[in-house]
Amino acid sequence: MEITEPMKILVINAGSSSIKYQLFDMQTEQALAAGLVERINEPNSRIKHRLLDGHHAGETVLDMPIENHHQGLSQVARLLMDDTVGVIRQPDEIDAVGHRAVHGGETFNQTSVIDEAVKKKMRALIPLAPLHNPANITGIEVAEQIFPKAVQVAVFDTAFHQTMPPAAYRYALPDELYQHHGIRAYGFHGTSHLYVSKVAADYLGQPANKTNLITAHLGNGCSICAVQGGQSVDTSMGLTPLAGLIMGTRSGDIDPGVLLFLQRKLNLSVDEADRLLNKKSGLQGICGLNDVRDIQNQQAEGNQSAELALEMYGYRIKKYIGAYLAVLGQVDGLIFTAGVGENSAYIRNLACRGLAPLGIELDRAKNEANSTGIREIQTESSRVKILVIPTNEELEIARQTWSTIRGGHYYE
Ligand code: ADP
Repeated sequence: MEITEPMKILVINAGSSSIKYQLFDMQTEQALAAGLVERINEPNSRIKHRLLDGHHAGETVLDMPIENHHQGLSQVARLLMDDTVGVIRQPDEIDAVGHRAVHGGETFNQTSVIDEAVKKKMRALIPLAPLHNPANITGIEVAEQIFPKAVQVAVFDTAFHQTMPPAAYRYALPDELYQHHGIRAYGFHGTSHLYVSKVAADYLGQPANKTNLITAHLGNGCSICAVQGGQSVDTSMGLTPLAGLIMGTRSGDIDPGVLLFLQRKLNLSVDEADRLLNKKSGLQGICGLNDVRDIQNQQAEGNQSAELALEMYGYRIKKYIGAYLAVLGQVDGLIFTAGVGENSAYIRNLACRGLAPLGIELDRAKNEANSTGIREIQTESSRVKILVIPTNEELEIARQTWSTIRGGHYYE
């Protein structure tokens, strides 16, 4: 991608009570500033802002009442234009705003320039993501007011997975539930899976459309994806980001009969079931902690439930790796990314344990070596390369925003 004119893109990830942002100069693909508005309309709201130009270390923290997203983003704009910690002089210097949008349903298989019709379609998708899509739409409306000259672009978490075939995305439920209510697997973390799969293909020196990968995004949320020739053909998350791998506080796959049982036995309400599966399960449910670092420390001290939680977490990843080896047939690389995937040698080891006969063999010393950046951690004899690749969802959103405003279609 060669850019000849200055181009600044602000990436926004608006949640129900937070706005994360990063400003990129697309000539260099450098992030110039980044930050977070948190606890909007709650006590102790604040903004953390950092300049990333290499000259100004440190963070500006503003504790102030922030009643709504408009106030939050106005403060971000003010900080971005500040004489000391800012990087622009006026809002018009921002050419485009790239919005992380969670659920694009089957409507959006591409990154889209936002207009009234796109917003209407996003509103129609609210039933599929009742917590996330309204916040994303608020973020868009506020950005339109504060950066009126910027092109607004929506980058959907689900879009990358729209290439999955029906055999992978349909549920064995009555057909009308799919036809009338869109009940199917959509998959999430698409920007991360796409970003690391492109980086991996580059690193391996192969064209993306001839590279088969299994990408494991292990953060607070976790998902794994089978990528065939650059396209997602299966992924572990489903209608919602609750399915698949065990996560910090989310159950991942369970027998759906568990819910029926609990409804009958304990009169579990919808809200209680939601809280149970999204907030009280996963690692948290098993051992009372959700941060993998803390759990590893507990395990090292002999805590049995911490040990079990990690064993279950690693075993689930391994099962999915096996499944996606079967889906893809031939695999060039297994990629670990996000907080846990990039940093936990312990989990990578559990996830690959016993897979040597299937061509996946971790080198213990390389796995445990302390380093950042892209690295190979398989043995000489491993048929599949095992790579650790730091993800960068914000840069991916900025790149897609840039290419989309030039009329490019981003996904194959
Ligand atoms: P998010 O999904 O919110 O973006 P991250 O990708 O930052 O989250 O991942 C957060 C997870 O990464 C936490 O569970 C944390 O325990 C884990 N993590 C971060 N650093 C390490 C580390 N050095 N060892 C083990 N786990 C780590």
